[in-house]
This record gives sequence, structure tokens and C-alpha cells, in this order.
Amino acid sequence: DTAIILYNRDLRVHDHPALAEACARARHVVPLFVADPAIRPRHRGGFLAEALEDLRASLRDLGGDLVVRHGDPVAEALRVAADTGASAIWASADVSAYARARERRLERECAAHRLDFRLFPGVTVVPPGLLRPAGGDHYRVFTPYWRAWRDAGHRQVTGPPPLVRLPPGVEPGRLPRRPRAPYGHLRGGETVARRRLDLWLKLCLADYEDGHDDLAEDRTSMLSPYLRFGCVSPSEVAARATGYPGAEAFVRQLCWRDFYHQVALAFPELPRRDYRPRRVDWNEDGHAADAWRAGMTGVPIVDAGMRQLQAEGWMHNRARLIVGSYLTKRLRIHWRVGGEHFADLLLDGDVADNWGNWQWVAGTGNDTRPNRVLNPLRQARRFDPDGDYVRRHVPELAALPASLIHEPWKAAPKVPGYPAPLPTPDNG
Ligand code: FAD
Repeated sequence: DTAIILYNRDLRVHDHPALAEACARARHVVPLFVADPAIRPRHRGGFLAEALEDLRASLRDLGGDLVVRHGDPVAEALRVAADTGASAIWASADVSAYARARERRLERECAAHRLDFRLFPGVTVVPPGLLRPAGGDHYRVFTPYWRAWRDAGHRQVTGPPPLVRLPPGVEPGRLPRRPRAPYGHLRGGETVARRRLDLWLKLCLADYEDGHDDLAEDRTSMLSPYLRFGCVSPSEVAARATGYPGAEAFVRQLCWRDFYHQVALAFPELPRRDYRPRRVDWNEDGHAADAWRAGMTGVPIVDAGMRQLQAEGWMHNRARLIVGSYLTKRLRIHWRVGGEHFADLLLDGDVADNWGNWQWVAGTGNDTRPNRVLNPLRQARRFDPDGDYVRRHVPELAALPASLIHEPWKAAPKVPGYPAPLPTPDNG
């Protein structure tokens, strides 16, 4: 018989539980991706197209193909099932409200058409909802979750299936087109992801614990867009990292990712509603929000982060914390404004991680210190002491010495073309 694997954000052949099971059990397998016009890929369209091209090439190397359709994923999966005589539709379980609604619809339709429907793990290391605190359906605070996560048995990581046997006569369909101009610094796909993982584990993981907050050095893995689209399995990243000295600090970050996925599953309104309501007199200043988006606030470390985002489609985690705290706590602009802009531009932009982190930064989420405000100047001196991160992303300031680069308003004469710091609601 034939099983359909409905791909979504698990675009790989290694360590893919649903694909492995189908290839082991079914006579024929149809790896299917449906480009859903209701999902705006925003700036991630090119990365996604590259990841799909790479997946198609890998599946062809295994004797199969990636079958591509355009339209509603549920209707298209059912159509492909009817065309191929498939008896099963399997997928990797996801957490966003949209994905969950799609899964429920698919489950109903499969029941109506007497098709076997199953969801598999693979999007996170530990399946969301599996770990529960006494008396609750999810963990609200990270540290107890981390302890439970570390102690939980993790799924065995697997390689690619030996062979993908496509049923005869399936029309492969055309891949989504790549945008004309590439966006960001990272190219999509499992092949690139695996190369990056190999090199990073060998060359950089040892420095991670001490260096991961250093803004100028870029010592983090930059695996986030690949994890976002499932080009690499988070279980494989965690398992392989664990063999190296000093891995715990890094594996802990993968656990943060799982943590927000279990929050998003339990609280589907995460992108819209305060997880922990807080009374804030939000500021509606459109000009300040525009200046923040453009990287023209007059606060160099904030502007450097915002311009890195524009140029690379990625931003260092420390910079995300600084620009997020500045927007929500200093300018007092609503976290949704920040989250929307990030969701638009980030290659790793993802419902659980983006909105979970934004709410954390704004003090409406899982932060145990909701009133904390990061002082941008102190953060800049600590994490970009020589000013090299600012110099790289804010060229107007490149000639300033380290003593002035984070406080250009003290420079004489004034730096041409760079604004004075925005007034904030608290200092007028
Ligand atoms: P590394 O330091 O190498 O960490 C390895 C992996 O752990 C990352 O790839 C990521 O998958 C995970 N991770 C690390 N930090 C976090 C975290 N705080 N929360 C959840 N997972 C984490 N990450 C996203 O993947 N998508 C987003 O949309 C996103 N939005 C964010 C918004 C804000 C306001 C903030 C403060 C953080 C956001 N993050 C998001 C988390 C974090 O900044 C990125 O995951 C990280 O910078 C990615 O770089 P890296 O792969 O080099 O991370």
C-alpha cells in the first residue's frame, strides 16, 4: 500500500520519523509538499524555495521525489491520496493555531475517507505537551521545564531511509519559484544545514558558553532558520552536541525552543494576547516605531541590531533582547509591533519562538522578572566593548573611537546623518 508524507516544516530526509516509518512499512511512499496560498512566507520565500529544491534532490537520490502541489494542503493531500490509491496520510505534529486547525481538518477528512491519519514527532526534541508539571498542562517557567526535559528520555536519532519508492505515474509538480533577488546571508536546505552543523560543532561549540553573548564575534550556530524549516532535526542537533565538551549551555538553548513550543500549544493566542496580563500604558507613537524599524533611533546598539535584521534576515540573540526591551520598555510600544516586524524579516521567524520571546521581553510572558529593563548603553559596553558590532552595521558611526561609538551624541562635531536619540515617554 501507499503512504503520503505531508511535509510542512520538517524539510529533510535525515531523522524524519514519519518518513522513516513510511519507508519501512509501506510499499510506496509519496513525499508531498503543498504550497498553501494562505501562508505568506514574507521574507522567507527564497529560503523555503531553496530548502524544497534541496529536499527534492535528496529524495531523488533515494529513488523517490518531492511531489509538489499548490492550494489547500488538506484538499490537495486527499486528491493525491485518491490519485495514488494511498491508504495513509502522515505528518509531523506542529503547534501553531493554524497548523493545529489543519491537522484537525485532515484527521476528520481522513476518517471520512477511511484513510489512516497519524502525527509523528520531529519538530521539537521533546514532543510539546509530553512533559507536564503536577496540576498543569504545560510549564510556565523555564528552569523546572529544563530539569524535566534533561531527564526525559530522548528519541533515538535516525539517518535517511535507504530507499523511497514512489508509486508509478505521479506527476511531481513544480516547486515554488525563488524570488529574483536572494534575501539574507543564509541559503536554505538540508545540505547547507548539515554542513553548517558539522563545522560549527567542530570549530565553535567549545567557545559557545563564554562567547555566545559577544555581539561582534558571531559565535552562535546560526542554525535557527534551519531548525525553523526542519532542514535539520533538533533531536539530531542536541544529540550530536552532547558529545562535545561545554555543550550544556547550547543544548539549553534548544530546550528554550521546545519550551516555547509547549507554551504555544497550550496557549494558542500567544501571538495576540498577553500570556500574563500586565497593565501598560502603551505608546501609539508611529514615528518612534518607524525609527525603530529603520534602525534610526539614535541609540547605536539598537540601530545596529535593527540594521543587521534588515541586511541579513537574522539578528544576534543579545541584540534581539536589547532592541526588544528598548521598544517595549523604553519606547513603551506594544510587543505586537515588534513581533510583526520580526515575523516579517527573520529567516527563523516562527510562531512559538518569536511571540514567546517577545512576550518574555515585554514582561507579559514567562519571564520571572517582568519589570526588568535592559539599559542599552550598559548592554553595549558589556557585549560590544570595542564597538565593532555597531561599526559593522551602522557605517555612519564607523570612524568613532570605542569611547564614543555607543554615545555619538557626545561627539564634536556631530556625526552627520545620524539622528539624536529618540525621546522616550519617561524622559520627554
Ligand atoms: P544559538 O545560540 O546557536 O542557539 C541554538 C538554537 O537554540 C537556535 O537556533 C534556536 O533554535 C534555539 N534558541 C536559542 N535561543 C532561543 C530562545 N531564546 N528561544 C527559543 N529558542 C532559542 N528564535 C527563533 O528561532 N525564531 C524567532 O522567531 C525568534 N524570535 C525572537 C524574538 C525575540 C524578541 C528574541 C529575544 C529572541 C527570538 N528568538 C527567535 C530566539 C533567539 O534569538 C534565536 O533563536 C537565536 O538568536 C538564533 O541564533 P542561533 O541559531 O545562532 O542560536
